Amino acid sequence: MYAPAGVKTSKDFPIPDTMKAWVLGDPGVLVLKNKPVPVPKKAEVLVRIDAVAICATDLDVIAHGPPALVQGGLPFNKNWTPGHEYMGTVVAQGPGVDEYKIGQRVTVEIHAGCGQCKRCREGMYTSCHNYGLNYGDVDKGHRANGFTTDGGFCEYQVNNINTLVAIADEMTDEEATLVVTAGTAMYGLTELGGLVAGESVVVTGPGPIGLLGVAVAKALGAQPVILTGTRDNRLKIGLELGADHVVNVTKEDPVEAVRRLNCGKGVDYVVECSGAPNGLNEAARMVNRGGKICLAAFPHQPVPVDVAFLVRNNIYLYGIRGEGKSATHRAEAFMRQKRFDATKIHTHTFALEDLPTALRYARERIEDAIKVVVKAKGVAVHKVAAE
Ligand SMILES: [Zn+2]
Ligand SMILES: [Zn+2]
Repeated sequence: MYAPAGVKTSKDFPIPDTMKAWVLGDPGVLVLKNKPVPVPKKAEVLVRIDAVAICATDLDVIAHGPPALVQGGLPFNKNWTPGHEYMGTVVAQGPGVDEYKIGQRVTVEIHAGCGQCKRCREGMYTSCHNYGLNYGDVDKGHRANGFTTDGGFCEYQVNNINTLVAIADEMTDEEATLVVTAGTAMYGLTELGGLVAGESVVVTGPGPIGLLGVAVAKALGAQPVILTGTRDNRLKIGLELGADHVVNVTKEDPVEAVRRLNCGKGVDYVVECSGAPNGLNEAARMVNRGGKICLAAFPHQPVPVDVAFLVRNNIYLYGIRGEGKSATHRAEAFMRQKRFDATKIHTHTFALEDLPTALRYARERIEDAIKVVVKAKGVAVHKVAAE
């Protein structure tokens, strides 16, 4: 039985020595294997994974590698487990941990910075300068589960306590997997963008971050919130999540439509979530002078950009990598207060064993799949009274 030295466990949550884990072999090839259950160190806990959402970035990582960086290189054939948008239950505490109790339900954010580089010291742990340095002689303590360290397509994972977000009892497992997506939108709009109530926002691209970007922007008091995209069914969900207007870019020019809908003026913010080759140039023409563009999606090829237009119009541009500055905690607070219903973007649930099918649903958008979740089979819903 699992009983590592210095690690606190509970008889209420027996932990096996080994677990089922999906492991990435060659590009696109996942194999279900047995792995030892990992052991939490100082400032870490062991999380029993109850649900994991599939992200477009998982599809990229599994097929192509980046932005995963395992042992300094591509993630293939390194006995490495992907998956990063998971939630679960704390079942063991590393030495000295008392911040989270055994039995507590949590969701996770991805990046645990090294805590010692310049950016981590500034609180920007998603931009840690020691990204991926967590092995051998250069172990800086950085973790990004599902990118640089083992992730969530398995039964148990170790998390730094700073990556945990306590969730309300009423929040379902599926909804809890969406906190990090909402947290990413929150980070882009408030911490990086400085959005204040009453400012105008366009979100381009109704993927999961775009749709929850609409929801978060509206909950933050943005006015108007305009969503652009190509698929009417996704735009309709955007309306349900709080968009004041939607624009189908296959039917009308999005720049003209945005200006018309905002009284002939550009907006204060564009959150670019489409990754379309011309997405940035169009965003630049949607913002007003001095406006801000948050880049939350990446085109798969280098794209030409009209830099002179950006300069002449004093447009601010910032990329966003994940969910920094603890924005996930504020996103969870919004969801706890039911300021928006993130579950509108959850469409499918599969058993952990059926991960390849779940990935196919997400990749090919079968049955209009948006967020596809996998759950470890046989996980009973535990409700544990506070100790
Ligand atoms: Zn993700
Ligand atoms: Zn760092």
